[in-house]
Amino acid sequence: MLLNIKICFKFKGVLYNIQRKWIKILLQPIRVYCFHHVCAEFDSESMNACDWMQIDEFKQKVQKMQQDGVKFISLTEAYNKITNDKFRNHKYAVLTFDDGYASLNEILPWLEEQNIPATLFINGKYLDGKSYRKNPNEKYLTREELFALTSPFVEIGSHGWEHLDASKISADEFKIIIEQNIKLLQTHPRYVPFHAYTWGKCTKGSNRILSEMKIIPVLMDGMKNYDDKLFIHRELL
Ligand SMILES: [Zn+2]
Repeated sequence: MLLNIKICFKFKGVLYNIQRKWIKILLQPIRVYCFHHVCAEFDSESMNACDWMQIDEFKQKVQKMQQDGVKFISLTEAYNKITNDKFRNHKYAVLTFDDGYASLNEILPWLEEQNIPATLFINGKYLDGKSYRKNPNEKYLTREELFALTSPFVEIGSHGWEHLDASKISADEFKIIIEQNIKLLQTHPRYVPFHAYTWGKCTKGSNRILSEMKIIPVLMDGMKNYDDKLFIHRELL
């Protein structure tokens, strides 16, 4: 009996691996990249070095990818493809920016000029110009700046009302920071129902809450996207 169960599990495992291999043959991955600051000058007072990319380096990387046949699409379009595609032979990528820093004012106009969509993950509490985080010099988009971003190339998602680690707060606290953030962000004409976990950290409870609220969780796990409808996977460029 035990032997039969073991053989059954092994067989299911083999079938699963074959299925995953087939999916990777049929579907080109959609790559979702995560950025923070993309601007000309690094400011040590207000930025972390690991969160900064020089704007010319960024432009070169994006243009090189376009030359290699990559098409930049919005996160919403990417999710529709991840959910529906049975076959995908084109290379797609998505650009996302976390934390809603004021440095977005430098890169967003260029992306719009290039017709390249961007998704911003915003902490609603920080839109009043103060920094509530460890570094008091951090500079965020103001509420006026955020609500002036109405271009069809911009999408606005959630990063929590505050930048808290979902694995270090209770499910109830997590629900509160999501509800408070969504209440504000859904008044934005470009709001989309995605939540990027801060530092990519999540729990079963936080995933359940997002699922109940019909918000798609966005991870930072270095993985590519094939057909996983439950999570968006992200990586660094
Ligand atoms: Zn963040």
